[in-house]
Amino acid sequence: MQTIKETIAALKAGTTTSAALVKKSMDVFEADKKSALPLNAFLEIYDDALSLAAKADEEIGAARAKGDEALNELFSKKPLLGLPFANKDNISVRGKALTCSSKILKGYVAPYSATVINRLTEAGAIPLGRCNQDEFAMGSSTEYSVYGPTRNPINRDYVSGGSSGGSTAAVAANQALFGLGTETGGSVRLPASYCGIYGLKPTYGVLSRWGVVAYGSSLDQVGILGHTPQDIALPLSVMSGVDMYDDTSADLPEAHSLADLKPYADFAKLKIAVPKQFLETKGMDADVSKVFEDTRKWFESKGAKIETVDLPILEASIASYYVIALSEAASNLSRFDGIRYGNRVDNEKGYDELYIDTRSEGFGPEVKRRIIIGNYVLSEQFSGDTYKKGMSVRARIQREIAALFESYDIILCPTCPTPAFKLGQKVDDPLSMYLSDLFTTFVNLSRIPSISVPAGKTSEANGSMPVGIQFAGPMFSDAKILSIAQVWEDEHPGSGKPVSEVE
Ligand code: GLN
Repeated sequence: MQTIKETIAALKAGTTTSAALVKKSMDVFEADKKSALPLNAFLEIYDDALSLAAKADEEIGAARAKGDEALNELFSKKPLLGLPFANKDNISVRGKALTCSSKILKGYVAPYSATVINRLTEAGAIPLGRCNQDEFAMGSSTEYSVYGPTRNPINRDYVSGGSSGGSTAAVAANQALFGLGTETGGSVRLPASYCGIYGLKPTYGVLSRWGVVAYGSSLDQVGILGHTPQDIALPLSVMSGVDMYDDTSADLPEAHSLADLKPYADFAKLKIAVPKQFLETKGMDADVSKVFEDTRKWFESKGAKIETVDLPILEASIASYYVIALSEAASNLSRFDGIRYGNRVDNEKGYDELYIDTRSEGFGPEVKRRIIIGNYVLSEQFSGDTYKKGMSVRARIQREIAALFESYDIILCPTCPTPAFKLGQKVDDPLSMYLSDLFTTFVNLSRIPSISVPAGKTSEANGSMPVGIQFAGPMFSDAKILSIAQVWEDEHPGSGKPVSEVE
């Protein structure tokens, strides 16, 4: 595996080219389509990826001809020059298809690029293609997609996790150096955990949501997938910060330090909270518990102080999350009506039928279920109870988590109670699918950052599937949790390396 740093060094030295990187991904994409169990990570490789790569190679070549100083200057202006990345099918790239893996948006072309895309391309990165996801980012396995599931590169009988399973599998299978996903309740961390790579959900607002298709706007956040924390930190430094098109956007303090992320040095001062509620979860997988205990011991061996804390409100996080996320989703998805957005189905019976036929043909079953629940929750009869209760639980979670961080630096917990499951196992059981998010949603509800770290594997008897552990910190501590995760990577090198290089 090559990290971003190593790849940049190779690009500068001329031992690789951007075109070679793109070409390799294109070849793997074509071969995968023909394989017996296709990964189905990329849905499309963008048709201009190769020409953008050739342009980047020209710029690099011209600077190299002038000498090291010119090369360094070029890369300080464009720190991601020539590096291809995997995009998710709900993040707009101007002139490219954008479907949220839904039939209702088939044929839709994005009229403008998301701010995160603009910032990456200004830094020289190359959007390689769009990747599969659960329809409208609703799901935990990337099985609710009109394009079929994305398989897990570690073992293709297993799900990749969701909803950002496509970009995660692409990175995990060495088809891209880093990837973009989106999170509403765990959709970057969960697949990262299932596929054995690093996945960061940044502080709410640090990455602009402009040009990203909304699911639950008060929770949505773009996330980054990579092989190492450093590989996440560099794109984060480029993309983060206030955007005039997103009123909820915010600057990340110490964003400059992310360009050259240093491992955290002060473990002896680190105070870590482990919520008791998560340890006592029914249905917690024994292998996940073991990996968690090993991670805890590693922190202790480095001098960190770990305490178990009692936060009963966490037991209500999943209920609060689904009330809020689905209410916001019902409202956000009302624009897909065949008039404003979405493929119109008009049987010329009038407007009501036009809306109904468009939406019943265009949306898949999970999206429909969520729109129905969301509208039910928001209906006049119930909103007083359910929606307000969901909101007041959220406010309490935010308060209690913020109070906890007055005494602790990070919260340590597994990313998910279980490792990846087999394809088809939960697809008809929405409740057990929703419970995959048991340990992730409190992070979105309280707007804090969290990284899923590839911390171990299940036993051989259980398939040696990856297990992720979360390091979550207070709002705007993104640089700190990344630097702590980098120490893990330095001491367990290759934890998040791609599957083609896993012996
Ligand atoms: N699995 C969660 C859901 O279905 C989270 C999805 C997400 O983060 N986009 O809502």
